[in-house]
Amino acid sequence: MRFHVLTLFPEMILNGMSESIIGRAIKNEYISLNVVNIRDYSDNKHMKVDDYPYGGGAGMVMQAPPVVAAYESIVDNMNLDVTKKKPRVVYMTPQGSVFNQDMAQDFAKEEDLIFLCGHYEGIDERALEMIVTDHVSIGDYVLTGGELPAMVVMDCVSRLVPNVLNNEESAMFESFYDGLLEHPQYTRPVEFRGKRVPDVLLSGNHKKIEEWRKEKSLERTRERRPDLLEKKEKEKKENGNS
Ligand code: SAM
Repeated sequence: MRFHVLTLFPEMILNGMSESIIGRAIKNEYISLNVVNIRDYSDNKHMKVDDYPYGGGAGMVMQAPPVVAAYESIVDNMNLDVTKKKPRVVYMTPQGSVFNQDMAQDFAKEEDLIFLCGHYEGIDERALEMIVTDHVSIGDYVLTGGELPAMVVMDCVSRLVPNVLNNEESAMFESFYDGLLEHPQYTRPVEFRGKRVPDVLLSGNHKKIEEWRKEKSLERTRERRPDLLEKKEKEKKENGNS
């Protein structure tokens, strides 16, 4: 997986992606990270990349020319025939579809993913029309920029790339893997401030442990995210009818 990020704040991405499992995956070359500073593609002598919105209103808008030029610099280095396959360009925006695990699975199939991070009031619509293939939000709230959202998506997609997680960190049995939240987890000590680990987990009986986990997973989903159970039911009915 090759991630490319178009941003005005490259250090945010480079620092945010340098630690822990993602940092290790980059070092081991399971994923790569190419961060492009949109400002480097400004043709303004002061390297300006934003201007006032036409029609008035608060804030500044990122201009189309540097955004598109920065994008073209990435595509030029990809040796890609864009008439045959357009690269996937994900614009992080509160106006997009809300990111979820299914979208992560879909993105993980790509070899290259380009993320476009907006700032200020956003980006001139013409640039978006020219280059963006996916509009993705990380939730119904507004942040100052697209860098944190892009890192959220890259982190989630990276976990699905082969070898990024080792066995102990497997992505197979996490929340959302089968449309449910994960069961509670415990580790040593067996007793902490009077609270004991459930006996079944110490029993060594794998069948019983699996049953307990499934039950807790359902119970937790019912309590915290009943919408997930409804979605699962609906999908089951649809698949059964087709
Ligand atoms: N004026 C824009 C609007 O109302 O849709 C919001 C601009 S926001 C202040 C600046 C940038 O932050 C956006 O261009 C986008 O890249 C990013 N951003 C903010 N909230 C986001 C969210 N919930 N998900 C993804 N990106 C977000």
